[in-house]
Amino acid sequence: MKILVLNCGSSSVKFQLIETSLELIEQRADRLIAKGSVEKIGSSHAIVTFDVPGRERHRETPEILEHRVAIERVARLLCDPEHGVIGDPKEIDGVGHRVVHGGEKFANSTLINDRVLHEMKECIELAPLHNPANIRGYTVARQIFPDIPHVAVFDTAFHQTMPPHSYLYALPRVIHRRHGVRRYGFHGTSHRYCAYRIEKITGVDREELRIITAHLGNGCSACAIDHGKSLDTTMGFTPLEGLIMGTRSGDIDPAAVLHVIAKEELRLSEANTLLNKHSGLLGISGISNDMRELQTAAAKGNEDAQLAIDMFCYRLKKYIGAYAAAMGGVDHLVFTGGIGENSALIRERSVDGLAFMGLEIDPARNADPEARGERQISMATSRAKIWVIPTDEELVIARDTVRCIVGVIPPPPA
Ligand code: ADP
Repeated sequence: MKILVLNCGSSSVKFQLIETSLELIEQRADRLIAKGSVEKIGSSHAIVTFDVPGRERHRETPEILEHRVAIERVARLLCDPEHGVIGDPKEIDGVGHRVVHGGEKFANSTLINDRVLHEMKECIELAPLHNPANIRGYTVARQIFPDIPHVAVFDTAFHQTMPPHSYLYALPRVIHRRHGVRRYGFHGTSHRYCAYRIEKITGVDREELRIITAHLGNGCSACAIDHGKSLDTTMGFTPLEGLIMGTRSGDIDPAAVLHVIAKEELRLSEANTLLNKHSGLLGISGISNDMRELQTAAAKGNEDAQLAIDMFCYRLKKYIGAYAAAMGGVDHLVFTGGIGENSALIRERSVDGLAFMGLEIDPARNADPEARGERQISMATSRAKIWVIPTDEELVIARDTVRCIVGVIPPPPA
């Protein structure tokens, strides 16, 4: 099957066309046919990129004012006689949509019918910045590809196994019942993929393992995957909680926020921007939200950059310890995401001193400049194994789309 994976943001559409099927999943022989993105939707010079393995990148800068035009452009590019990879849109068997928030309604991926769409809309108030674009993407894609199944894959779904003692906040219970305020967690597709890869690489069923995954990208979260299920994760009601991120604060005393709102006379939207856009690595360093730039600056002696790195690693280390405690130990620790996959320094600093709990990183393996792809970076003596696993959320979305189409994942009620 050829599956189109769509990830629609407020001003962007990222896409991949992936060939996969139950057999190809089993053989791990599914393959990327093409991928690309449309950025700056809403401008007269949107940026369209289109990559086919083995070919040079194709680039366009047309006027694209809204998502419908963007996805039509994607469909046209895929079938383009010169740059395209298929002859006809009818060759596409299904569309998989990344949807950020599935609330408490979705614990798995699902075919989208009217009822599912209605429930996705009900989750908008939980993710006002993300779900509207995801839903808009689905609505126009359904019009452009009307005759094939569409599937929603939720960032939150994997974490629906969290028990109440990890997903509830210690607020009056009525706040949860009335407003849905609880911890949901995000990056579920990525954490799930890492656990799946550990199972495949080690040959040990994930139901026998205690895995900690650290997805460190622009957004960062860690997850305690206890015997195959998400037991706890650092992101909460929104992606703001937990680890320090590029521009998000992560954990903070809510009373500190109330204090700043009062003292600076901030509106709620301004406080939101402060915590989500001006904090984290950027806020501490005053230089950048980009870990590469911070490492370069710190190496040249910039103390603020060094402090941002120190705080980032310390926060992560605390959660690794907490999750090992929550699971009664840890068998595997996985690093993924742009920082997790590429920064030997952050990996080393985050597990420094954790030998007492069986985590010993091998400095040479960890820092090997030639190393690429999935690899183990722990010492041979390390009781728990430490890994780098490049995440592949689009692959998971394509595979779940196939599983929904063939019925391995049961259809939603009509
Ligand atoms: P997103 O969450 O938007 O998908 P990525 O997973 O691509 O983002 O992660 C982006 C982060 O990864 C940035 O902070 C970037 O600086 C960092 N990063 C990428 N390559 C390296 C590297 N070689 N060393 C350190 N950090 C890196």
